[in-house]
Amino acid sequence: MRITDARVIVTCPDRNFVTLKIVTDEGVYGLGDATLNGRELAVAAYLRDHVAPLLIGRDPSRIEDTWQYLYKGAYWRRGPVTMTAVAAVDTALWDILGKVAGLPVYRLLGGRSRAGVTVYGHANGESVDDVLTEVARYVELGYRAVRVQTGVPGLASTYGVSTNKMFYEPADAAIPTENVWSTERYLAHVPSVFARVREEFGPALKLLHDVHHRLTPIEAARLGRSLEPFALTWMEDPVPAESQDGFRLIRQHTTTPIAVGEVFNTVWDCEQLIREQLIDYIRTTVVHAGGISHLRRIFDLAALHHVRSGSHGATDLSPVCMAAALHVDIAIPNFGLQEYMRHTDATDAVFPHGYRYADGYLHPSEEPGLGVDIDEDLAAKYPYRPASLPVNRLEDGTMHSW
Ligand SMILES: [Mg+2]
Repeated sequence: MRITDARVIVTCPDRNFVTLKIVTDEGVYGLGDATLNGRELAVAAYLRDHVAPLLIGRDPSRIEDTWQYLYKGAYWRRGPVTMTAVAAVDTALWDILGKVAGLPVYRLLGGRSRAGVTVYGHANGESVDDVLTEVARYVELGYRAVRVQTGVPGLASTYGVSTNKMFYEPADAAIPTENVWSTERYLAHVPSVFARVREEFGPALKLLHDVHHRLTPIEAARLGRSLEPFALTWMEDPVPAESQDGFRLIRQHTTTPIAVGEVFNTVWDCEQLIREQLIDYIRTTVVHAGGISHLRRIFDLAALHHVRSGSHGATDLSPVCMAAALHVDIAIPNFGLQEYMRHTDATDAVFPHGYRYADGYLHPSEEPGLGVDIDEDLAAKYPYRPASLPVNRLEDGTMHSW
């Protein structure tokens, strides 16, 4: 079997997605997600101009060799654009392998390690009362884990708080929207939110909170300590992770578990965090961390050091990535949680898929391969729309992490 075509499909069914479709001479094809939120066309060009020509004529079953060829062969290693492109190829090749073998991909990864993939949803609201209503809605839907974000008194807008509750999408304008941030107002407010949520919903519900890279290590340590009475499952992205050493300081001061990694691209971005057990959950994803092959490598390292998976699963990952993530999640021994934000009906129509939600769990498709497809005719009806993530400034105008 040989690869005869590798084409890039850019579509915007309510938000932008980039998909790689690898076609073989036997008619079997595979899909890989190549979406990098806000920088979509850079990956599309990387794949179209630099990767697709290298794939023609290759044996699609040589997944590891192709990964190494693209990673080492580029000379310029790592980075989100490169690794998202490599991920798309890798994911598509696993899809082809599953279809050829007649097996869902998770069976090729060693088979099922659990009955279902525990997912968490996003409850958010401007006020604490609003967020309590949202948490209740997720509990009613069967969720066992909920991420809680609220508005901060005195700030006009806050990360994670949206007007459309089911389909939050922060990439809302061609030129980035500007938000204003105050660490002081935030740190004073958050513990009171979790006190109310815990009081209302009891000890069993897993509660999570995303700091979104806004704090310094000592500020994050203070937040973690103030949240200890409410037993969070994790505090996410407490500080920007360019400096892995910074996490040591947080660790010294709090037992609130730490999750990080949605912007990481390789095992080298989290190797120290995992080896020194500075985190509890690693949030790398199929699409941004080099595909199924490399994500599995990261999770295997994590398993040696008591770190569990907690893959990013926002709506900026297409159903192709979600399908792939579920095959990894169901198979690995050290699965923790999977983020699950529902896609809109338009997105689901472009990407028909076999995975399904029931009682707080997602279940991967039992079809051969990943169990997800793309309707190319429908995709063509939704042309690309420029959309950027917001930026963030302190109250005095200083640029801050969004
Ligand atoms: Mg996050």
